[in-house]
Amino acid sequence: MFAGKTTALISAIESIQKQRVVVFKPAIDTRYATDAVVSHAGKAVPAMGVNRAQQMLEQVTEDCDVVGIDEAHFFDAALSAVIETLVGCGRDVFATSLDFDSWGRPFPLIERLISRADHTSLLHAVCAQCQHQADRTQRRTPVVDGIMVGGAESYEPRCKTCWRPPPQTPPQ
Ligand SMILES: [Zn+2]
Repeated sequence: MFAGKTTALISAIESIQKQRVVVFKPAIDTRYATDAVVSHAGKAVPAMGVNRAQQMLEQVTEDCDVVGIDEAHFFDAALSAVIETLVGCGRDVFATSLDFDSWGRPFPLIERLISRADHTSLLHAVCAQCQHQADRTQRRTPVVDGIMVGGAESYEPRCKTCWRPPPQTPPQ
């Protein structure tokens, strides 16, 4: 979040020429638009909001060459198999994600994706409190009944010193 990963995704997508691209985003992420991936600087590419990873397979057409996925950590565990299927069919897949959840725990799904990726790049945001390098995500709204209500606006980047885990028990 705020580390420039959506900007990096948009740059990668824009650099692709003469190939058909489809970009997916979590339907929960409605910060700037429901039908586009938008960076904090306002750059945008069209994107389709989906609730479940499996829906990506239903939406990818025969002539699609490249698949972009923004905020991959919001998706369910099936995303791993969905990406394997897409890559197995000859598609290139670009995905962005956070690496730690609100409790500072690595996302198991993302660890799995990183271990299988051909290329990864780690981007750092600036702590919203002290301006040092941030490597944690601060939850800004309460966790209700273990459900992470709200989209990306419910989070901000923090360094380890300024970061506080939510008081609620983390969902399993
Ligand atoms: Zn800080």
